[in-house]
Amino acid sequence: MPNGPQKPPAKKHPLQHKRAFQTALVQWFETKGKDYPWRRTTDPWPILVSEIMLQQTQVATVLGKGHYTRFMALYPTPRDMAEAAEQEILKAWEGLGYYRRARNLHAAAKAITRDHRGIFPRKYEEIRALPGIGQYTAGAVASFAYNEAQPIVDANVARVFSRLFDFQERIDTSAGNKQLWKWATELVPAENPRAFNSAIMELGQQQCSNKSPNCTTCPLRRFCHCSEPTTLPIKKSAAKVTRVDEFALFTQDSHGRILLQQVQKGERREGMWSLPRREHAETLDLPLALKTTYAITRYQVTLRVYADSNMPRSTRQHESWHLLDDLESLPMPSPDRRALESILEG
Ligand code: SF4
Repeated sequence: MPNGPQKPPAKKHPLQHKRAFQTALVQWFETKGKDYPWRRTTDPWPILVSEIMLQQTQVATVLGKGHYTRFMALYPTPRDMAEAAEQEILKAWEGLGYYRRARNLHAAAKAITRDHRGIFPRKYEEIRALPGIGQYTAGAVASFAYNEAQPIVDANVARVFSRLFDFQERIDTSAGNKQLWKWATELVPAENPRAFNSAIMELGQQQCSNKSPNCTTCPLRRFCHCSEPTTLPIKKSAAKVTRVDEFALFTQDSHGRILLQQVQKGERREGMWSLPRREHAETLDLPLALKTTYAITRYQVTLRVYADSNMPRSTRQHESWHLLDDLESLPMPSPDRRALESILEG
């Protein structure tokens, strides 16, 4: 339902009343801002880790399930992560999904260790030059760690700006994206950019949410020019969900070992250990042990796991047997881990 009627008309313009706008936002944040571990530090490394984790994972998962705390305990510095084996890192990332992020972070940690003697770079350009670090992440680290006046635009900020400026154009085009960054650059203050950037992101999460913006209590309502917030931002309609079927085997040998397959280079979940995948035709005669569904990007996957009691005489390429006691230490995609645990628990 559009929230137009409850939103009072704007009296000021964010760019013409910049100081008042920045003050209103930061004052709101001082009382309403949430207390996250990465906001209690100015060390750029934990800030970078949190930014990478939060790219595609909710705060509740990152914090609530202890992923962030465990990860930081394992790799408190870039050097600790640079020296770790990729398998170990994938295991530490388990449950967060989108494992490419863990590899990018590993590459960044190695670059910091190799090119900067393990000391996190101080300049924005050097942060931006680290592997896998884009404009948003570099700006976030520079502003949160060093209080540098760098603009940031993530999905929350994009939504807030679209509404504040009543932006009636698509934001997912290069021109639309450029306009968002222009506003962010114009609005970030030289004084306390750290609080300003945290505040605008937080406002997007708490106050100016996608479906139910709370305009009546919004600290920016005097500056906000849209009349129907829920119609903004404008984007190309979301890609349709595609249904996909996967067929896998659960095979246990006489020693109780489980057959697993290592995902190969270039494939999604590269380097992880999964239940061996098969063509549908190869599973037709086998009893179904478990059927489950999971979502990844725009795919809705139905995973069927078949119990194969016919011991293969030889394993296929990239497949090997693993003792039950070793499963815990192997990096495994969450759907496979859940399926395996459910089957083993009977
Ligand atoms: S910024 Fe968002 S929550 Fe605030 S008044 Fe505008 S649309 Fe409403």
